[in-house]
Amino acid sequence: MLLRVRPFPSFPPLSTSRFSASTHATTAASSPTTPAPPPPPQPAPPLVETALFIPPGVAQDEVSMDMVLPGSNIVIGPYAGDAKVKSVEFVKSSAKAKDCPRDPLGRPEFAVLGRSNVGKSSLINSLVRKKEVALTSKKPGKTQLINHFLINKSWYLVDLPGYGFAHAPRSAKTDWSAFTKGYFLNRDSLVSALLLVDSSVPPQQIDLDCANWLGRNNIGFTFVFTKCDKVRASKGKRSDDNLKKFQDLISDHYQEPPPWIMTSSVTGLGRDDLLLHMSQLRNYWDQEVV
Ligand code: GDP
Repeated sequence: MLLRVRPFPSFPPLSTSRFSASTHATTAASSPTTPAPPPPPQPAPPLVETALFIPPGVAQDEVSMDMVLPGSNIVIGPYAGDAKVKSVEFVKSSAKAKDCPRDPLGRPEFAVLGRSNVGKSSLINSLVRKKEVALTSKKPGKTQLINHFLINKSWYLVDLPGYGFAHAPRSAKTDWSAFTKGYFLNRDSLVSALLLVDSSVPPQQIDLDCANWLGRNNIGFTFVFTKCDKVRASKGKRSDDNLKKFQDLISDHYQEPPPWIMTSSVTGLGRDDLLLHMSQLRNYWDQEVV
């Protein structure tokens, strides 16, 4: 039984609206003054009728479909800005949360986490366009490290240890928070977490547990679905079903669902859009929160 968590944390202040992409698109296309043309072929139905993530600075009634990032529920608002990654510097590996770098400038950071093998290293490398920035240890029992990378000398990307190793003892599978919890509960400069979810496998309880823990602790996060190139590529595997099931679970458990976005480190799907989304959270944080 899943825990019912509080609505998405109040930072950044969120509102969501029930929104059917297909209904909206149909309404926008019809015109009262011209005779109705023959109906065009029906587009594929949206992956799921979803609730939108409306960022700070956008009123719910201003939202139109062209403001929604493709393959996501994320509306882009006025805080979105330059999202290009121009430089990346490795700063530090920390074996304990308390050893994480303290930035005198208070530059904001995003933490990336997910199950082992979810595609975390690949996504980080794709975001910064470097082949081997993130090299995580794949074996349970190896030292787990928190890795800080400084992007454009202005914000941090933080690579957190993976959780739920397939061959680890149960305690190591579920106790992700023993190490990572300390980080989340003591990181004033954290803007948001990116919680990676593998779209090529059915929803996993451990991912939902992780999301619920973040929600209960008022830590804002974005669901980042990885390996979405497999959605159509894998016949019979039905990764699109996995996404839909996961999104149904999200809408069952959140009154105001967190933002989500589909990505692939193989095709680059969602890469620039995710960076744009991060830019609006970051700029809001820079301008309004600190
Ligand atoms: P990590 O353990 O979470 O850091 O995962 P990795 O980035 O090492 O990826 C685990 C496996 O998934 C590797 O075999 C990757 O090649 C594969 N993988 C990662 N991202 C993608 C993706 O976007 N699409 C596909 N098809 N495979 C991926």
